[in-house]
Amino acid sequence: MTNEELWKAVLGEMELSLSKAHFTTWFKSTSILSKDANSILISTPNAFVKEWLENKFNRKILDSIRHLTPDVREIKYVIGVPKIDLRQDISKAILEKDFEEKTSLEPDKDIDKSTNLNKRYSFESYVIGSNNELAHAASIGITKNLGKIYNPLFIYGGVGLGKTHLLQSIGNRVVADNKDCKVLYIPAEKLTADLISSIQNRTIEDLKSQYTKLDLMIIDDVQFIAGKERTQEIVFSIFNELHGKNKQIILSSDRPPKAIPALEERLRSRFEGGMIADIGTPDFETRLAILKIKSIERTYHLEDDVLSYIATNIQKNVRELEGALNRVMAFSQIYNKSPGLKEVKSILATYLNNPYKKTSPQSVLKNVADFYNISAADLIKRSRKKEVVRPRQVAMFLLREETKLSFPEIGQKLGGRDHSTVIHACEKIKKEEANDEIMRQEMVLIKERIYNSFDK
Ligand code: ADP
Ligand code: MG
Repeated sequence: MTNEELWKAVLGEMELSLSKAHFTTWFKSTSILSKDANSILISTPNAFVKEWLENKFNRKILDSIRHLTPDVREIKYVIGVPKIDLRQDISKAILEKDFEEKTSLEPDKDIDKSTNLNKRYSFESYVIGSNNELAHAASIGITKNLGKIYNPLFIYGGVGLGKTHLLQSIGNRVVADNKDCKVLYIPAEKLTADLISSIQNRTIEDLKSQYTKLDLMIIDDVQFIAGKERTQEIVFSIFNELHGKNKQIILSSDRPPKAIPALEERLRSRFEGGMIADIGTPDFETRLAILKIKSIERTYHLEDDVLSYIATNIQKNVRELEGALNRVMAFSQIYNKSPGLKEVKSILATYLNNPYKKTSPQSVLKNVADFYNISAADLIKRSRKKEVVRPRQVAMFLLREETKLSFPEIGQKLGGRDHSTVIHACEKIKKEEANDEIMRQEMVLIKERIYNSFDK
């Protein structure tokens, strides 16, 4: 392998684990200047980049190089003239491919203007497992009896577990079965924005009347309307009008209605008034089946042992599973061959036990605060309000579980509280988690957010 090829492979790996902006900032105009038996000299464009690579990325770069040339012990960085210009080379190819991939997976042309549905999502490509059986069956049931059996249908589950896929599949099937059916798919965030801007433009009545003419209204991630009073008021009136006419409403959320904070009671009881189905994490067989379907969709063949290695090791959610598959695909496109088990292990190694993926206390605080719809500063403040006290106790518990900070350190992080307060909180939440199903689910959801925030 030439130096150039080696560096291209390293860049390929870096590019996959960094945002595009970071990747370009730190790796543009870098190259391998020279290489001997155990050390490598990397050329960087300026002191700033040199310092960053040395201090922040050295470990990652070294790991990545050692996958390919295990003898290398050391990397040195110098400021110098780069030999190859990345922009015209591999990184451009990767960036372009990345771009193509994003646009071909979520392209505007796949999204229908009037229904807002993405054709990519269908029941045919949805794998049924024990984790989503009920939600799937209810969805199919609805397509056959719109507005008549379960109204609303409320589907909940953590991120990347297939809620949007299922919701969109229902919409697509309904439109395919009956062209005249008026269907709208809308994420709650967009709904909120549309409602607010039409209030400002005084066109809210027009917008409402468009919504109330629908036969099927699908609102995705409805937890986003929590705490937004005016939006909830309008959603409530749209809901009642549609429901009164037996028009179908489908909602999704990352948690059940009763666990959505700052949701008006009357809306909560409406949301609970039909059928509630959850989606959990897929088991091994389901993960394997999903990988098979996704690789067929991408017309990409991988051996069974490779697929089952991925399915065994990536368990968190389906989006992550797809991420791993994309990673393996990207590598095999660079090397122009399909990787075997050995290669896949090394491709995913950095991903599976990435030292950069340690949980930070900041991330715990931010995710706990986001989950309970308060600010991270509220957790630290002295306030004894009920809305803050419990989230604060949860934060203490999760800091203890996820970061291994000591009790006094946790007290410090949360505005200088005494360690006995922290111990009390941790014991209390631990007991609740053991005895209360809702609490257990809450913890799973928050942890999921914390783990997922590594990827951003
Ligand atoms: P959510 O809306 O719950 O966050 P998505 O519906 O966006 O999750 O799913 C994330 C990705 O995983 C999508 O690409 C989706 O196609 C895929 N996916 C999730 N569950 C399944 C499944 N059961 N079968 C096939 N693909 C799935
Ligand atoms: Mg979604």
